[in-house]
Amino acid sequence: MDDYIAISALQHYAYCPRQFALIHVEQAWAENRFTAEGRLLHERVDSGEKEQRGALRYERGIQLISQRYRLRGKMDLLEIESGDPVRYFPVEYKRGKPKTEDWDRIQLCAQALCLEEMKSAEVLEGAIWYWEVRRRETVMLDDALRRTTVATIEGAREVLANEQTPPPTDNKKRCRACSLIDLCQPGIFRQDWSARYVERIDE
Ligand code: SF4
Repeated sequence: MDDYIAISALQHYAYCPRQFALIHVEQAWAENRFTAEGRLLHERVDSGEKEQRGALRYERGIQLISQRYRLRGKMDLLEIESGDPVRYFPVEYKRGKPKTEDWDRIQLCAQALCLEEMKSAEVLEGAIWYWEVRRRETVMLDDALRRTTVATIEGAREVLANEQTPPPTDNKKRCRACSLIDLCQPGIFRQDWSARYVERIDE
C-alpha cells in the first residue's frame, strides 16, 4: 500500500484530528444525514461529462495526483478557459453552506496543488458551490491558504505514521455534528483524561 493521502481525508483532519484517525487509522466509519447527502451530491456531479461553451471547457470528475505532496483525489468540476496562459478554475460541490473555518477551502486548495503539478500551471483561484444555499463562493488560493493546506497534509501524515488516535476536540459543537460521536465517545474520553490529569497533579 502506498502512502498517498486522499484529498477528501484532509477535511476530516482539519475538522478534528481524532475524526481523521478514527476513519483513516482505525477504519471506523458511520454515516449520518450530512455525510449521506454529501455522498449523493458527489455521485450526481461526478458524471465525467465534458462540455464546451465558447472559450470555456467544463470537465467533470477529474482524477488528481501529486507526487510532491503524495495526494490523490478527484475534482468535481474543472473550468478551463483557453488563452495564453490557459486558466484553470477548480470547483468543489458541498452539501452545506459557506463556513468561517477553512475545511472546505483546504480541500479545494489541495486539488489546486495537484492540478498545478499535473498541468505545470498556476491556479490562482477556484470556487465552492454550496447546495444548501445554492451559492458559489470564490476562493483565492493565496499563500496563507496554501500554508494551512500544507500544514494539514503534514499533520495528517504524522497521524498516519504514528498510528495514534489523538484526544477529542475541545469544540463540543463539532462533536454534535460528527457522524462518529457514538464510536468516539468524546465525553467519556475527556472525563478519563481529566481524571488521569488530577491523579498526576496529586502525586
Ligand atoms: S465526536 Fe468529536 S472528538 Fe470525536 S471524532 Fe467527532 S468531532 Fe472529533
